[in-house]
Amino acid sequence: MSVFHYQLLNRDRRTSARRGFFSTPHGPVQTPGFMPVGTQGTVKGLTIDQVAATGAEMILGNTYHLALRPGHETVRRLGGLHGMTLWDGPILTDSGGFQVFSLEAIREINEEAATFRSHIDGAIIKLTPEHSIEIQESLGSDVAMVLDHVVALPAERSKVVEAMERSIRWAQRCLNAASRDDQARFAIVQGGLDVELRQQCATELSAMEFEGFAIGGLSVGEPPPEMYRITEATCPYLPEEKPRYLMGVGTPVDLLESVARGVDLFDCVMPTRNGRNAMAFTDQGKIKIRNAVHREDTEPLEKGCPCLACRHSRGYLRHLFVAGEMLGPILLSIHNLTYYQRVMAGARTAIENGTFAEYMEMKKAGWGVS
Ligand SMILES: [Zn+2]
Repeated sequence: MSVFHYQLLNRDRRTSARRGFFSTPHGPVQTPGFMPVGTQGTVKGLTIDQVAATGAEMILGNTYHLALRPGHETVRRLGGLHGMTLWDGPILTDSGGFQVFSLEAIREINEEAATFRSHIDGAIIKLTPEHSIEIQESLGSDVAMVLDHVVALPAERSKVVEAMERSIRWAQRCLNAASRDDQARFAIVQGGLDVELRQQCATELSAMEFEGFAIGGLSVGEPPPEMYRITEATCPYLPEEKPRYLMGVGTPVDLLESVARGVDLFDCVMPTRNGRNAMAFTDQGKIKIRNAVHREDTEPLEKGCPCLACRHSRGYLRHLFVAGEMLGPILLSIHNLTYYQRVMAGARTAIENGTFAEYMEMKKAGWGVS
């Protein structure tokens, strides 16, 4: 049996939620699970011990950023992502495709490669599927993502079809180029907001030797119900015995709605980015800690939260932001990441107890979403 193995433990009765774990060379990941984003080899502002204390088991690194700076060869010589960062749990790296797309750095995409301009020094760089795998092998992540062709939505159907078909061919090229047996490869389903294309893409990729499957090209500005619709239509076309990862999603409600549709893994910059911008997630919804109402507020962000931030009063946290102290963004990032992990831990327990639907309704009521 491969070191990469997904074990399905429980299935929810009323939804498609599933409870399991995914084994990697750096340990298992309990699913459904959330991966904090460590874009440049660091989850912004946090030490690895602080990241681990939030309950995170697996983190994400960005191939595009690390390949440009410090360079994947440098990362390799510094011990790979694990040796460099000292994070000893599983790491997933993206392929660079989404950054190239989202930073609007793209110059041209043809069958051979995505050509883009570096946002650091303006250099023209060609990213092929083979080069993306070579970079990720140098980074030494546990899971490498295939290079895919992402299109901005809305787009003409012919463009979506072309990108979807190319993504399948590139997925095969990634498999052919891979040489490490201690690194899993996850394919990425594309197909825009077209159910038929998504299902075709999922079916074709499922026939290939991947250890896991991602749904990509969502959370790019479409309304959440569209994202849920595509996720719901795609999951049944992915293998039961492999993990499913919804890339770049999302808000706490997005996570639970997607778990209910059969997704196992998530990543998103929202907990850390919003934390740096003085916004905290809680069971009662979002808190803007800069608001004057918190000036002499002696309550923690969330009662019962075990994180470092919640040992302090909201009044103190507000003061840190108003005074421009770096501890403010750090503490709110810690709280938000802890919050996301607690939401997912609650989801796992609820699936085990067969009460996931009730759990989701309770959380949504607290967040004030229907
Ligand atoms: Zn907290």
